[in-house]
Amino acid sequence: MVCHECDLLVDVPVLEEHDKAFCPRCEYLLAANRPNATEKILAFSATALTFLLLANSFTFISLSASGQEQTVTLIDSVNILFEEHAVLAGIVFATIIGVPGFLLAGLAYVSVSLRLSKRLPGTHRILRWSLRMLPWSMAEIFLIGILVSFIKIVALARVELGVSFWAYVFFTVSLMLVILNIDRRELWRQVNAVPNV
Ligand SMILES: [Zn+2]
Repeated sequence: MVCHECDLLVDVPVLEEHDKAFCPRCEYLLAANRPNATEKILAFSATALTFLLLANSFTFISLSASGQEQTVTLIDSVNILFEEHAVLAGIVFATIIGVPGFLLAGLAYVSVSLRLSKRLPGTHRILRWSLRMLPWSMAEIFLIGILVSFIKIVALARVELGVSFWAYVFFTVSLMLVILNIDRRELWRQVNAVPNV
């Protein structure tokens, strides 16, 4: 495989559990066989999807200033933006809800395939697309953006964090745990090793 950092071509052997392969030139982590990675991906994906559902079901934040109160849901934030800038709203929806949702459902499907030791229909395509979507998942960036804007809003209005906000925080943490357990090379090796249904 090619090192992402320095483009060195490295011949990485099949890794045993707990083994990691580093680039001999720049020491970039090339591949890792983390124990129970498939089970962890499946468990954290299911958790993250549940929290994503909850994050879309309740109030995200409530704002009150000079006797007026306004509650905003997660999807409201996209809808409000849609009126101003439809393309931007589409990108925001994709990066904070659509892409992470697709990614998690896709990885859960691939993990089920691996757990059953049977390659379910479309496993290859779903894994390929899930891995391609990875850089477009920006839940954590959205969360940091919200926290920064809170600091500004707090001076102007009373802000209350809703159930959806906390659900989105737990969703982001679970999503990060899924991403930490992804090793592209190991996933492809395992998917190619299981027989078709
Ligand atoms: Zn390197």
